[in-house]
Amino acid sequence: MNVTLSTGKVIPIEMHKVKIVQQTNLPSAAQRLEAIREAGYNTFLLRTRDVFLDMLTDSGTNAMSDNQLGAMMVSDEAYAGSESFYKLADSVKEVLGFQYLLPAHQGRAAEHLLAKAFVKPGDVVPMNYHFTTTKAHVDLAGGKVLEIFKDGALETASSNPFKGNMDPDKLKAVIAQYGVEHIPYVRMEATTNLIGGQPFSMANLREIKAIASQHGIPLVFDGSLISENAYFIQQREPEFKDATIQQVITELMKNVDIFYMSGRKSAAARGGLIATNNKKLYEQILPWLPVYEGFSTYGGMSTKEVEAMAVGLREMTIQSIASSGADFIAYFVRRLEEEGVPVVTPPGGLACHIDAMRFLPNMPQAQYPAGALAAAVYIASGVRGMERGTVSMDRDEQGNDVPSDLELVRLAVPRRLYTMSHIEYAVDRVKWLYGLRNLIGGLQFVEEPPVLRFFFGRMAPIGDWGEKLAAAFQADFGDTF
Ligand SMILES: *Cc1c(COP(=O)(O)O)cnc(C)c1O
Repeated sequence: MNVTLSTGKVIPIEMHKVKIVQQTNLPSAAQRLEAIREAGYNTFLLRTRDVFLDMLTDSGTNAMSDNQLGAMMVSDEAYAGSESFYKLADSVKEVLGFQYLLPAHQGRAAEHLLAKAFVKPGDVVPMNYHFTTTKAHVDLAGGKVLEIFKDGALETASSNPFKGNMDPDKLKAVIAQYGVEHIPYVRMEATTNLIGGQPFSMANLREIKAIASQHGIPLVFDGSLISENAYFIQQREPEFKDATIQQVITELMKNVDIFYMSGRKSAAARGGLIATNNKKLYEQILPWLPVYEGFSTYGGMSTKEVEAMAVGLREMTIQSIASSGADFIAYFVRRLEEEGVPVVTPPGGLACHIDAMRFLPNMPQAQYPAGALAAAVYIASGVRGMERGTVSMDRDEQGNDVPSDLELVRLAVPRRLYTMSHIEYAVDRVKWLYGLRNLIGGLQFVEEPPVLRFFFGRMAPIGDWGEKLAAAFQADFGDTF
């Protein structure tokens, strides 16, 4: 929620109070340099004891509510028929309107089940944009992802409120080209994680659903950030300016054949799920559930997680909770813009994204600008972000790098975790780094896994820019922080 101060300045304000805290540690620049070296210049390989603000991801890192923790205490430990499952099923029915529920241990597990059940070799899956794990599961099932976003979706400096929209004409062309039999489903991701947490509009979803329905193709909705997408629809699409978050969600779900989500994001908890009202589709997925996840009443989650998700799903429809991340992200983005740092606009749903191609305009993509910038941000601040660029793309069949459409450093804002002074600290250090951007050099792979290489890949700086950056920091700020 935002409040307006007497000066006219608008700031996001926390609609919660702190009940439990965890100590953090701010390592010195010398320690940060040592830690990132040990991590192979890959922020995934840092230990949290070396991280001050963990802005790697909003996945599983959000603060939970007292009600969620309370629910976890009364979970019903049972392999089959757990009461906790029925509480989650009730939440899914009430919030999302679906009758059939398939729990899964997290979002990618839901993607695995969907790919197993529906994607055949040679198939194509049109989507507004891919997510790393979605693409991996479609690829592993022998299919191909087709990204059919609208022109302008990849412009990082933009005022387009719905960069996550799918292009309906491109969808029609894909259906004409590949034929219905090779399109197991059309996937809409709310909000598009890799292009900066950008939402799609209700009008767009309705249009895409109409085209898909006309050809009998199911619409799959990745709702990992559904409450943020619903909040943006309420804020940015005039038809919904007076609607509640629940009303927007209910309207969204009218267009959905299969819903799935990572429960680690919007629902501020753990886990994942698939839900539908289509019995036939449900029955196609169900047999795979115990093979890969677990029995149908826990799906690989502990019953404590099932309980936390049941509460989290309801809580994400509360206005001040749905807006809690997005309003801080908007503030973060506006502040960096004020300081002249190139960021993705308009602000999205999960993070503040720095545009590494504009931050480091002379660095070729072959030297991984977003990866280098993520490491540099860590050296400059102890803030851990995530590379979302070419490192996050795996090589093609010929072994060539696939240059990413965008080179972004994502500074995720886990919901209700950090405060205004944390955001101001991150803004200040990124601004400082921007002033010294000419110091930052590229990276090269030292160890490179074949799939999802960004997780475990190890890199080395080209030259000694890490040392130079740490030395510049010490010159400006002294020996400590
Ligand atoms: C995080 C995420 C996933 C994968 O979910 P996990 O719980 O991390 O496995 C899938 N889709 C989107 C849009 C996501 O943001």
